[in-house]
Amino acid sequence: MAKRKEIQQLLDEIESEYRFTRGMTGKAMLSPMVKQALSKIQRDKFVPHSVVDSAFANHPLPIGHGQTISQPYIVALMTDLLELTADDVVLEIGTGSGYQAAILSLLCRQVYTIEYVEELADSAKLRFERLGYGNIEIKSGNGFDGWPEHAPYDAIIVTAAATQVPGPLLEQLKIGGRMVIPVGRQYSHQELQLISKNQQGDIDIKDILSVVFVPFQGERNE
Ligand code: SAH
Repeated sequence: MAKRKEIQQLLDEIESEYRFTRGMTGKAMLSPMVKQALSKIQRDKFVPHSVVDSAFANHPLPIGHGQTISQPYIVALMTDLLELTADDVVLEIGTGSGYQAAILSLLCRQVYTIEYVEELADSAKLRFERLGYGNIEIKSGNGFDGWPEHAPYDAIIVTAAATQVPGPLLEQLKIGGRMVIPVGRQYSHQELQLISKNQQGDIDIKDILSVVFVPFQGERNE
């Protein structure tokens, strides 16, 4: 099937899943900005050759080192929940393939992204250079600590499931900022949470949807 057709089919599937889950997520429609970003970023450029035939399927795919590129519907939903504006600075924990970071880069001013597995960070860095994403900065390390040098962030997105929200990430979220993070036990029940920090600095947490993510590595006891 031609790539354009495959992308259109993927967008249709994401939109139908939005309608199906609207009662839980509060999002009835894929926002036009996120839709445009999804149609521009070619997922086949982010997956290994062995699974390239499934690149536009609406499910997660293996990217090596036991990790996965998230399901496109989840990428869309998490991005939508951040309600980004063009001037925002975003922190992502869990670069993986770099696909989510690439989507974010079209919707904000600057993306900082941290990947735990050094080899994945190295290949994502090369990919960003080759594809020309000038507003994504990546480093390898433990995202539990965030990236204090560039804080505070308008938005933070975590793409691995933590047992609790890392304190440093809450601290590095701007007043008025939003964070999406899957929270729960490894390979067990996990809930996608939307966290916001209000003008008084208080934290509000909303459960959005049950999800399955790979585990957050290197959690520290605070
Ligand atoms: N956003 C990615 C999804 C990758 S899966 C994409 O679009 O492809 C989650 C990733 O989180 C994995 O690559 C895993 O290695 C990484 N990860 C897990 N714990 C981490 C941590 N503490 N800091 C940074 N990255 C982490």
